[in-house]
Amino acid sequence: MFRKGLLIVFSGPSGAGKGTLLKSVTTINKNIGFSVSATTRSPREGEVNGKNYFFISVDQFKSMIENNMLVEWVEYCGNYYGTPRKYVEDTLEAGIDVILEIEVEGAANIIKQYPDCVPIFVLPPSFEELRKRIEGRGTEKQDVIEKRLERAKKEMNYIKNYKYVVINDDIERAANDMNCILRSEKLKIKHNTNILKDLGIDIGRENNVND
Ligand code: 5GP
Repeated sequence: MFRKGLLIVFSGPSGAGKGTLLKSVTTINKNIGFSVSATTRSPREGEVNGKNYFFISVDQFKSMIENNMLVEWVEYCGNYYGTPRKYVEDTLEAGIDVILEIEVEGAANIIKQYPDCVPIFVLPPSFEELRKRIEGRGTEKQDVIEKRLERAKKEMNYIKNYKYVVINDDIERAANDMNCILRSEKLKIKHNTNILKDLGIDIGRENNVND
């Protein structure tokens, strides 16, 4: 009864509350792997190397690109960010779901490579609330805050690439929405073809109603 893991792509503007939401989702769903990205950005206070990110130099990042070690990468607000390939491929192959928390251009790249992935966009309840959250975090200088807000506006145009939208106005409700999405994705016929095969049911290529 083997089923490959789901690749969940999770995006949304900086300050939408993606981190908190993901923490809540991975606390409830123990069988989800969280892909740790590589970045050339400096660690924020409290961030741990290997847990939040692999904090590496520009040279190290470029060498990862050259050696095809990243599934996707982007330059975002002056820094490089990328998803290490090995963890994603090994984890999905082992039947474990993987979440990528990445920005919209990287997500578009992943959606092309993995058309069966589950792209989810998280939105703040309003733009004013977004500004409040980024300023309230107190981790960025004013010019970086403005850059991130500008970028947030642009990112929202990419929402059409995604299958689901979650509005993060209330963390409990938003986490519940996320769990509903994951549960219903797992129940899709296309994600259960191996199980159906074990039961002697071959759907061939005809099941095209649920992507
Ligand atoms: P932050 O600097 O706030 O941690 O992240 C900035 C943005 O980069 C966020 O939107 C985050 O989702 C995105 N990001 C983090 N890791 C990756 C990655 O590996 N690839 C891409 N494309 N975006 C990433």
